[in-house]
Amino acid sequence: MGYFRKNIEKVRGYEPGFQPKETDVIKLNTNENPYPPSPQVLKVLAEISPERLRKYPDPLGNEFRQAAAEINSVRFEDIMCCNGGDDLLTMAFRAFCDRNRPVAYPVPTYSLYPVLAKVQNCRAIEIPFDGEFNLPAKLAGTKAALTIVCNPNAPSGSFVSIDELASLADELSGVLLIDEAYVDFAEANCTHLIKEFDNVIILRSLSKGYGLAGLRFGYAIAQSNLIKGLMKVKDSYNVDAIALAAATAAIKDQKYFAETTEKVKKARGLLMEQLRDLGFEVPQSHANFVLAGCKDRKADIIFDELKERRIYVRYFDLPGLEDKLRITVGTDEQNSKLISALKEILSQETASSA
Ligand SMILES: *Cc1c(COP(=O)(O)O)cnc(C)c1O
Repeated sequence: MGYFRKNIEKVRGYEPGFQPKETDVIKLNTNENPYPPSPQVLKVLAEISPERLRKYPDPLGNEFRQAAAEINSVRFEDIMCCNGGDDLLTMAFRAFCDRNRPVAYPVPTYSLYPVLAKVQNCRAIEIPFDGEFNLPAKLAGTKAALTIVCNPNAPSGSFVSIDELASLADELSGVLLIDEAYVDFAEANCTHLIKEFDNVIILRSLSKGYGLAGLRFGYAIAQSNLIKGLMKVKDSYNVDAIALAAATAAIKDQKYFAETTEKVKKARGLLMEQLRDLGFEVPQSHANFVLAGCKDRKADIIFDELKERRIYVRYFDLPGLEDKLRITVGTDEQNSKLISALKEILSQETASSA
């Protein structure tokens, strides 16, 4: 007999995007922000006192909760700090799911959800999106204890309307977790739903919009009863003193945040246009990446060719995504190098097949 629980023996574990060691590469594979975090973050980091490190951090991160509550126009008790948005997902599975309490979500979506389901040993009810990534009607009728909708969705970049999510929250008997990791690049968010619904949890991350993937910080927004319950399953000190200080400085600098996210959104528009001009099929994205469909199912070949030119994008060998590349929006310079490389690759392809 193995040492591990059977479901752990069987699960493959989450496969993170490749993090190349070289620094002279163009890295458009894990949806990091191309811009650094606010200068206020670096200032706070330089001023961390030894005393702050000697002592345990505030277990609830109240300094950040206060700042996040103000920015989102919710109450202090409606916010919970997390060690990255992924930490909140782990807590939600722990708190709501077990052998008899399944999770449900539309697919394709964030590939961490099925991994967490297997670890928690709960059934995952996966309902396929249609070709346009509309919310599947069946999602409302699964009787799952936890339903997750990633909005904007990864890796499609598509966006489900707030009204549809409100109807879903109303129909569900279980909890609806709306994963808004990419919402900083969208035109609307679901924050106000928590005022109306006692079963809605919103996930936010500082990894994408705030350029802090290396810090590990995210947070939940929900009615205080849900927050209290989730706190029972969190690690005792789930956010560290340095992360807390840096995250608070980042979220308070809304001016810098607005400027950088605006630049990414503008670059996204141009990138989508240029990719379409090259013959890729690119649905409207509301996130900081685009999903590019390649003709003749040559996504893996283009992926390899780009890699040879030290440009990293993401290719998922998964149902419904075999012919697609997910490309993170980079700086204008990175995006134009990508487009030049793609032009070169596609012209070779045509030459060799002629
Ligand atoms: C990035 C991401 C998260 C959270 O990531 P953290 O780095 O842990 O904050 C959650 N959901 C999706 C879909 C993401 O892409």
